[in-house]
Amino acid sequence: MKLASFDDYRVGVVTDAGLVDVTDLLPAFLAELPAQRINWLITHWQDFRDRISDRAQRGPAQDPAGVKLLPANPGASQLFAAPANYRKHIGELKERAVTTGGRSAREQGFFLKAVASLTGSGTVLQLPKGSKRRFDHESELAVIMGREARNVPRERAMEYVFGYSCLIDATMRIEKGIGEEERTMRKSFDTFTPLGPYLVTADEVGDASALSNRLWVNDTLKQEANTRDMIVDIPELIEMISSVLTLRPGDVIATGTPEGVGQMNIGDTVTMEIERVGRLSVIVSEYETVAPRAY
Ligand code: MN
Repeated sequence: MKLASFDDYRVGVVTDAGLVDVTDLLPAFLAELPAQRINWLITHWQDFRDRISDRAQRGPAQDPAGVKLLPANPGASQLFAAPANYRKHIGELKERAVTTGGRSAREQGFFLKAVASLTGSGTVLQLPKGSKRRFDHESELAVIMGREARNVPRERAMEYVFGYSCLIDATMRIEKGIGEEERTMRKSFDTFTPLGPYLVTADEVGDASALSNRLWVNDTLKQEANTRDMIVDIPELIEMISSVLTLRPGDVIATGTPEGVGQMNIGDTVTMEIERVGRLSVIVSEYETVAPRAY
């Protein structure tokens, strides 16, 4: 199933007929915490899946182009990300690379992005106004967790996955001697993590270990790779993170970018597509005002 979060945190299912609003099937108390609806639905999926599926079949369906898509899970409590997880990406940033000595995600572990940087497909990815820094796209498969996970060995890790989505890990690059801020900060500007267009359940995607991943800037193909080339695969990522802390239902893991990372400029349309997961697109713009501390 493809779950959509849209407008004022309504929840829908996208079928061949269109978007079916299923918000009224969820408990009324969630109207007080609307951003938590997807987390709640993931937690109670076994009890609600059939009801949601029935409604999705019966409709009525509307045109998904007529709604404002929100991040695939707007209430994610944690957003983990893998650095240096594709061999050919390691080294391509040259002097702008944080990674040294060819260390991959296996040695570096994970980092965090702020969940407040999430945005939906079809929205605007905003860069700091007037900035002279370099801002890059990173096309990544996102894993959305289905259950609490702590100390989960890789052999059992896939049982904890709820689904997948497309994720752009937008990044302000370091400039040696000028700006060498922490990774978390450079990747956490508002709107720097488009996630969507939908949250696709694991059963619909099937084997996620060999999915094509492509990204275009305007009409130019910039990144083209396959998840089979990950150094630390999805089960090992879950094993690694859950060895440190508890993953929660709805948490997001950005699995790392392949090679072909490059610059985004104002006015560009950045589009990425992952096989059986979907196609996400954003327009690059800038904030309306210059921040008091300008980057
Ligand atoms: Mn990344």
